Amino acid sequence: MERKINLLFVDDEEQFLKSLSKQLEARDFNVITANRGEKALEIARSVPVDVALVDLKMPGINGEQTLKALKEEHQWMEIVILTGHGSIDSAKETIRSGAYEYLQKPCKIDDLLEVLQNAYKKKVMNKNRIEENRMNEMLKLAQSDSPRKILRRLKDIDKGES
Ligand SMILES: [Mg+2]
Repeated sequence: MERKINLLFVDDEEQFLKSLSKQLEARDFNVITANRGEKALEIARSVPVDVALVDLKMPGINGEQTLKALKEEHQWMEIVILTGHGSIDSAKETIRSGAYEYLQKPCKIDDLLEVLQNAYKKKVMNKNRIEENRMNEMLKLAQSDSPRKILRRLKDIDKGES
């Protein structure tokens, strides 16, 4: 069986956060909740997150700022933005900041599930592609360089300098 998708769900409306989390848990997501962007950033540093579902309007750092910070620290994480009525325009702009998709609240659970699953697939594909590149790079190096050079080079690749 495939493992559960680790979903970080961030929304300042606690009731909504609770009820939607329950629904997602029932559909085999592993949901971690946060009611503030700041908390979400903290959680993401200690728990592996595949996809984040982030409310746009929150006190403190808003959804777009949360999105940018998460993307900066976690290159593989895909982020879906949730927005209330009346802020669709700002939600659209989050795509430019790297959001995978945005959805308007209240959204149908099936639409949400589809978007979240596709976001997860994208994350896995991107990660695999980069790892494949890294593997090819290693093979190339193994054929040409001295072991010490290879080690040094691998460290650079690990730091994302390639
Ligand atoms: Mg809100």
